[in-house]
Amino acid sequence: MARVDTTPLKPFSVGLTGGIGSGKTTVADLFAARGASVIDTDHIAHQLTVAGGPAIAAILARFGDRFLTPDGALDRARMREYVFADPAAKASLEAILHPLIRVETERAAAQAGGAYLLFVVPLLVESGSWRERVSRVLVVDCPEQLQVERVMQRSALSDAQVRAIMATQVRREQRLAAADDVVVNDGEPAALVPQVDRLHALYSRLAAA
Ligand code: ADP
Repeated sequence: MARVDTTPLKPFSVGLTGGIGSGKTTVADLFAARGASVIDTDHIAHQLTVAGGPAIAAILARFGDRFLTPDGALDRARMREYVFADPAAKASLEAILHPLIRVETERAAAQAGGAYLLFVVPLLVESGSWRERVSRVLVVDCPEQLQVERVMQRSALSDAQVRAIMATQVRREQRLAAADDVVVNDGEPAALVPQVDRLHALYSRLAAA
């Protein structure tokens, strides 16, 4: 007897990435305004580590309460500093967070109702498996000096601290080499609009095909 295949078809999806401060959130917001279902993995990671969040018990068990704020959330700045200097601790933290991020991402994707899925994944090129999970890779690109200036303007980080974070991410050229599509964000925010319009039209067509 023929069996009905209930495996869900892989929907058309875009993985949006870019270095810190390149403009991922700014660009993703423009896609969301046009009807894409935006799923931000950074936001999901953040939600996992708020007070009472699903990752807190495992973090407490592995690292102790010195990495929690008084109200019980992950002290992100302290943890960032700690794992920066200790690759084994970084691997432990990722072993806690990555499976949970994956589950929550899939849950959000299953519930999404937009024209297509657009995942915002800061370390998409670095993390390997993401590239296979999306139909297309979209890179938001800008010169490194602009990344530094933007991040310093929005946070309390120094030039050296921003550059240290950038040193943990792939270089601009390597990220661009992984791109199917590129949004150039090196000028006025208004210059993003025609680029996003063109890509949204393309993605809508591909999603409908
Ligand atoms: P990411 O999500 O890649 O870290 P954001 O979209 O948050 O980057 O942008 C980083 C900062 O730079 C934000 O404060 C944002 O408002 C600002 N920004 C982004 N694009 C531009 C632009 N074209 N011109 C001026 N400021 C920008």
